[in-house]
Amino acid sequence: MQARDVETSFARNSPLSVQVEDDRTGLSLETLKRAFLDNLFYVQGKSPDIATAKDYYMALAYTVRDRMLHHWLSTGQTYRRTHARTAVYLSAEFLMGPYLGNNLINLGLYDLFEQAMEELGLNLKEIMDQEQEPGLGNGGLGRLAACYLDSMATLEIPSLGYGIRYEFGIFEQAFHDGWQVEKTDQWLRWGNPWEVRRPEWAVHVKIGGHTEGYTDHQGRYQVNWVPDKVVRGIPYDTPILGYQVNTANTLRLWRAESPESFDFDAFNRGDYYGAVNSKIISENISKVLYPNDDKLEGKQLRLEQEFFFVSCSLQDMIRLLMSEGLPLEQFPEKFTVQLNDTHPAVAIAELMRLLVDDHEMAWDLAWEITQKSFAYTNHTLLPEALERWPMYLFGSLLPRHLEIIFEINRIFLDQVRLKFGPDNERIARMSLIEETGGRYVRMANLACVGSHAINGVAELHTELLKETVLKDFYELFPEKFVNKTNGVTPRRWMVLSNPRLAKLIDQHIGTAWPTQLDQLSKLEAYVDDPAFRNEWREIKQANKRFLTARIERLTGIKVNPDSMFDVQIKRIHEYKRQQLNALHIITLYRRLKQNPDLEITPRTFIFAGKAAPGYFMAKLIIKLITAVGDIVNRDPVVRDRLKVVFIPNYNVTNSQPIYPASDLSEQISTAGFEASGTGNMKFALNGSLTIGTLDGANVEIREEVGAENFFLFGMTADEVTALKASGYQPWQYYEENAELKGVIDLISSGFFSGGDTETFKPLIDNLLQQDRFTVLADYQSYIDCQDHVGKVYQQDQENWLRMSILNAARMGKFSSDRAVREYCKEIWHVDPVSIELQEYSKMVAHIQEGAI
Ligand SMILES: *Cc1c(COP(=O)(O)O)cnc(C)c1O
Repeated sequence: MQARDVETSFARNSPLSVQVEDDRTGLSLETLKRAFLDNLFYVQGKSPDIATAKDYYMALAYTVRDRMLHHWLSTGQTYRRTHARTAVYLSAEFLMGPYLGNNLINLGLYDLFEQAMEELGLNLKEIMDQEQEPGLGNGGLGRLAACYLDSMATLEIPSLGYGIRYEFGIFEQAFHDGWQVEKTDQWLRWGNPWEVRRPEWAVHVKIGGHTEGYTDHQGRYQVNWVPDKVVRGIPYDTPILGYQVNTANTLRLWRAESPESFDFDAFNRGDYYGAVNSKIISENISKVLYPNDDKLEGKQLRLEQEFFFVSCSLQDMIRLLMSEGLPLEQFPEKFTVQLNDTHPAVAIAELMRLLVDDHEMAWDLAWEITQKSFAYTNHTLLPEALERWPMYLFGSLLPRHLEIIFEINRIFLDQVRLKFGPDNERIARMSLIEETGGRYVRMANLACVGSHAINGVAELHTELLKETVLKDFYELFPEKFVNKTNGVTPRRWMVLSNPRLAKLIDQHIGTAWPTQLDQLSKLEAYVDDPAFRNEWREIKQANKRFLTARIERLTGIKVNPDSMFDVQIKRIHEYKRQQLNALHIITLYRRLKQNPDLEITPRTFIFAGKAAPGYFMAKLIIKLITAVGDIVNRDPVVRDRLKVVFIPNYNVTNSQPIYPASDLSEQISTAGFEASGTGNMKFALNGSLTIGTLDGANVEIREEVGAENFFLFGMTADEVTALKASGYQPWQYYEENAELKGVIDLISSGFFSGGDTETFKPLIDNLLQQDRFTVLADYQSYIDCQDHVGKVYQQDQENWLRMSILNAARMGKFSSDRAVREYCKEIWHVDPVSIELQEYSKMVAHIQEGAI
């Protein structure tokens, strides 16, 4: 490697360099091929005769990364030089998806690399398939963070994402006898070519212990936190490219290690194993992602994770501020910090501690800075997801933060009393400490008090927040509340994952739409154009054939690409109501059994999604779906008119070929429970029609695409609330609806469980007795709507096609670029900074004096 470096740097500086393109930056086909083979040889240490598919992937990843570094370093340099105001996204999850294809798209080099690989006898897509995606998130919340990073870079917004570099991301889902089984996600096994470890910017994080008050030299009361352990956070940086701009921002993920001189005491006592053990304990903090979606797991390690990455990130921001020579008071001018849910909300107490204790700032000034710095995004109304930590646990890990929270609370509750008088119930609800039935620290309350802006993620969700879980806070701080409807990046969710459709669109409306998604409306002019319509239909068919082959490879099931692809892919949760979808399948199956010659629209029901490992009911829903598939897929009476497939291990990689191949998008959550959804947007953008409730962003999607192009069913959120208030009795729906009764009885009879009546009993009992998510109440409305969907698909294909085109054409609003622009304008007040690529020779011209 050394010799090669000398050679290329010589080539760079010599007059000959006009002929010899640089290995690391050159873009001719010859150079790309040579650079790829060089990386295979010199970085992977392999010659082609023994190289594996993984080696080719790594060599290609390094070749692409080389072509990003100039962007990345120029971006950093520009931000430092201009003291750029920076949007910081603090998130416990980043579900980034595979990088290689996305980086090629954003660099504008996809086709070129495809050709270079082809000339070497390799296939780019097959190489891309080798990538193990960093599954550092559970679902929508983590994927939203990823879409926002993509949009911030594309809009040239100076930004930093901070999170945790989990060694094991979300588990891999496999199946045994139709049940989900979890396998650890060893995404780092083959190495990660996109990250750069930065040990020189490591920080220390204190945990546990106690506090001691003292009076400083100026006679002021100060507090010293004496921890019982210290862990070291090491940053790992990944460049986040914008689409066809020079900007490359940074995603900085923290890994926990033990401090350099780990457990010195143990060493001195000669306790070598004890010392090593403390190292292992430190590393546990960033070991594994908690696999719960919309559910709090109140474990000590989880709180340690949250505090760990928050403290690392805030210390890092202060370092960056100081390295630019700016005073601490400028923190809220330099940074605006978005809290992605309450997972990082302890940042409010930690910034106070850093300012007041470590930097000896007066409380009032520190509080002003803190409130100015933070904004909070709420992601759910589900009470079981609202984070609250037992006070004894919180205090034992973060004794100083508990004191700070008490002080924030004391001042805050005085403010509440001032405004509302001695309303003790209101004070009890708003207190940062819950005192009824055990004492807890309420993270959402902390986030509301410590932030200058609070947002929900769809219009309905924000309204419900103001009316329900955050009502008291809305009454006190109405000016803090804003809505920011979610969005998705059209680069990954269209350009990369649906290249044929993207190309068709390019040919008709030009190539600006990936960054100006509103331009898709120009497609409306072609909605009656026969050639365009044909191509649109052809592309959907081709995408379906591609998915058909993939389904057979992954599940062994042969599906018919001419059937309707009816798709529900998302985390498995009772509120998302995959069980309602299953009831529909069984309804159709029973109709065929009763009348084998019944005319029905052939459908392929496609499911994918993980259940949290400890969520029994979600796992049982998966088992129900696979069990129904086992019967339906084999029953000769069905004659292949119905097929049910469960695609294993839903993640970004596996989802990308599904959205473009879908005809019908299932967005059937109980109204009032899905905060926004983003899967709904990916489907509609790719020309899939939605069957859905008035929930989350479905409401706005329907508004945009037009009610006539959306299959609506079910109760509204208000109707759900009213039904429950009036005493919902689900079994009445069962008793009064013969078809529903037949379906439920068929499950209860053991028909789908080999005669065993126990397997699905908990699910059926739950539906008949509680049915918290009003599945039975919405059943008939759903079935009627599905019957209508089937008819339109079968009998009015021209209209279906028209609706498909109009859905895509009217999705402009749901670009994450629009969402990020709104955050910038209304919450962050951050402006774009365009990046000029610095000249390489100038960037490396001067070794800093005293560098070594
Ligand atoms: C988009 C996406 C989600 C969110 O899907 P919803 O249908 O909005 O719940 C979850 N997981 C992955 C991998 C995604 O790509």
